[in-house]
Amino acid sequence: MGIKGTAKLRLFYISWQSPSFSYLCRALGVSIYNRFRMIKIEKFVFNSFQVNSYILQSGSGECAIIDAACYEDNEKQEMKRFIEKNNLKLVRNLTTHCHVDHIFGNGFTAKTYGIYPEYHEASVPFLATAAEIAGSFGYSLVDNPPPARYLVDGDKIRIGDVVLEVFYTPGHADGSVCFYNKEQGFVFTGDVLFRDTIGRTDLPSGNFDLLMKSIREKLFTLPDDTVIYAGHGPESTIGYEKQNNPFVR
Ligand SMILES: [Zn+2]
Repeated sequence: MGIKGTAKLRLFYISWQSPSFSYLCRALGVSIYNRFRMIKIEKFVFNSFQVNSYILQSGSGECAIIDAACYEDNEKQEMKRFIEKNNLKLVRNLTTHCHVDHIFGNGFTAKTYGIYPEYHEASVPFLATAAEIAGSFGYSLVDNPPPARYLVDGDKIRIGDVVLEVFYTPGHADGSVCFYNKEQGFVFTGDVLFRDTIGRTDLPSGNFDLLMKSIREKLFTLPDDTVIYAGHGPESTIGYEKQNNPFVR
């Protein structure tokens, strides 16, 4: 799924993506291929909680996963095939928060690519109970790798030529963060803000007032045309949610 591109732009983009074209340019030592690649976001919907996992591709071929939620073998292979088919190099695995449905694929990602998850330190208590909670839903979560590092509010994360700024946005769960790209105008909101609704606050560490504060003081300060890529459901924009979201209008 592309972002904010016209259909025309997408066609242009696809034409530069042919493996043979890539191979030819690389074989000739031509760097023009990379110059014409663009930021792209691919959405996958994984596990029975229907979590959106995203792969963010930079213009230079590095990529990051936002919420590695793949659980079934076919889901893991789908993600792996996408990375291979597009000649991408996975460099980060970013976790919006550590509810089990968002972290099922962290073990696979660590084992397959040597890339460990990054999450906010306040998420740690969730990991202590993750296996037990997964079991209560009929899932097995035995592989829970340690973090590569902890994310901190204000961090600037680089994926090739793409920069994501980390916002600490608790309220749905302690440790919830959003990832914002200013240049292209998009934000991954995890379970903080969805199209027409907000994250639930009845789970451990959930706090409605805190969630409202996170949305109003962090997300709603972004430009109205910022595209929201949420942890569940369809895309939205900050402007649309300001106007229409019944919880935060
Ligand atoms: Zn959640």
